Amino acid sequence: MEHICKRCFLLESGREDTHKIIKEHIDRLSEKEKCTGEEYRRRLDVCGECDFLSGGVCLKCGCYPEFRAAFIKQKCPYKKW
Ligand code: SF4
Repeated sequence: MEHICKRCFLLESGREDTHKIIKEHIDRLSEKEKCTGEEYRRRLDVCGECDFLSGGVCLKCGCYPEFRAAFIKQKCPYKKW
């Protein structure tokens, strides 16, 4: 069941379908586009402590941090990573 959860990512918020779609998109990124797994986890650790994360969405910009963070050239809109 879907619910809004502060500081939660998609799976914790019951949004399995969206999580699956995002994972499929990330899997299709080239190595040039994608940041390392270590950097990805570091970024999401920051998001997981951020008050703007709600129900898997960044309330600062409306993105899915789990998707945005996968791109090497992307940045947190709040300059946290
Ligand atoms: S992308 Fe930045 S502002 Fe958005 S949830 Fe993550 S740390 Fe917070």
